[in-house]
Amino acid sequence: MLFIGSHVGYKKEKGLLGSVEEALSYGENTFMFYTGAPQNTVRSAIDEQKVEEAFSLMKEKEIASDKVIVHAPYIINLANGEEEKFAFSCRFLKEELKRVSLCHMKYLVLHPGSHVGQGSSVGIQNIIRGLNDILDQDNSSVKILLETMAGKGSEVGSSFEELKQIIDGIHKKERLGVCFDTCHLHDAGYDLTHFDTLLEEFDQVIGLSYLECVHVNDSKNIRGSHKDRHENIGFGQIGFDTLLKIIYHKKLEQIPKILETPYVDRLYPPYFYEIQMIKEKKFDSKLIEKIKNG
Ligand code: FE
Ligand code: FE
Ligand code: ZN
Repeated sequence: MLFIGSHVGYKKEKGLLGSVEEALSYGENTFMFYTGAPQNTVRSAIDEQKVEEAFSLMKEKEIASDKVIVHAPYIINLANGEEEKFAFSCRFLKEELKRVSLCHMKYLVLHPGSHVGQGSSVGIQNIIRGLNDILDQDNSSVKILLETMAGKGSEVGSSFEELKQIIDGIHKKERLGVCFDTCHLHDAGYDLTHFDTLLEEFDQVIGLSYLECVHVNDSKNIRGSHKDRHENIGFGQIGFDTLLKIIYHKKLEQIPKILETPYVDRLYPPYFYEIQMIKEKKFDSKLIEKIKNG
C-alpha cells in the first residue's frame, strides 16, 4: 500500500481538523503540517478538541494517522552555537515536541541547521549538544527525523556521514530517525537514478531502519548544485520515472511519501493532480496547465 500526502496548512481557527480536511481534498492518506507558519515561530496553543475531531475524521476516511509528519520551522538552528540563538532554538524545539505530543503525532522533521561559518564539525557538535539537552529531558516517544539537506550555504547534513556523526553523539538514539528529501539528495550530489545503490550506501553508513519519511520533490537544478529549489513532480532535473521508482520502492513501502512541490504560479496547490498522476504511474506533460485551469 502506498502512503502518500503533502505539506498542508495548519490554521489557528480549525487546528488539526483543517489540516486533515485539506489532505482529504487532495486525495491523500497521510500528510505533513507545521504547527504554525513554516517561516516563523509564532505558535498558538494546540486546540485539543480539534485534535480529537481530526482523529475521528482520519479514522473515518482511512488516513494513516500514525504516519502523519510534523515539520519544525526553518529558523530553528541548533548548529549555530551563538548563545542567545542556540538557547532560543533549544527552547522552541522543546515546546514543539510538546505540541507534537498534544497532536498525538509521532514524528517531527528537523533541518539539522547551518553552521554559519563556524565549520561543519563545530555545527555538528552544537546540534548534538542541543538534541541531547532536549531529548534527555523529554520523556515522550516523538521521534526527531533529521532531514537530508541540499548543502545550500553552510547547511549541515547534506551527506549520510554528517547525519551519522550527529546520531553517534545522541544518547537516546531510539528518538532519532532520518527523512530523505529527493530534491535535497539530488542537489547534494547523490545519484537518484541508481537508487538501490544509494539505499545500500545509506544502510551501510546509518542503517535503513532509521529511514522514516521521504519528501518527494523534483529539483529545478542539476545534480550537485546545492541550490534547494523544489520543482513539480516530473518537471525538473530528477524526472518522473526516477521519482516513481523511489515512491514505489519495495523497501520504502511502509514509509510516508510527502510532496513539498511548489504551488503553480504561487496560487494553485498541485498536490491533487500530482498524486493522481503518481497513482496512474504515467507522466502528464500538460499537468501544469490542468492545475491552472482547475
Ligand atoms: Fe524540510
Ligand atoms: Fe523537505
Ligand atoms: Zn528543500
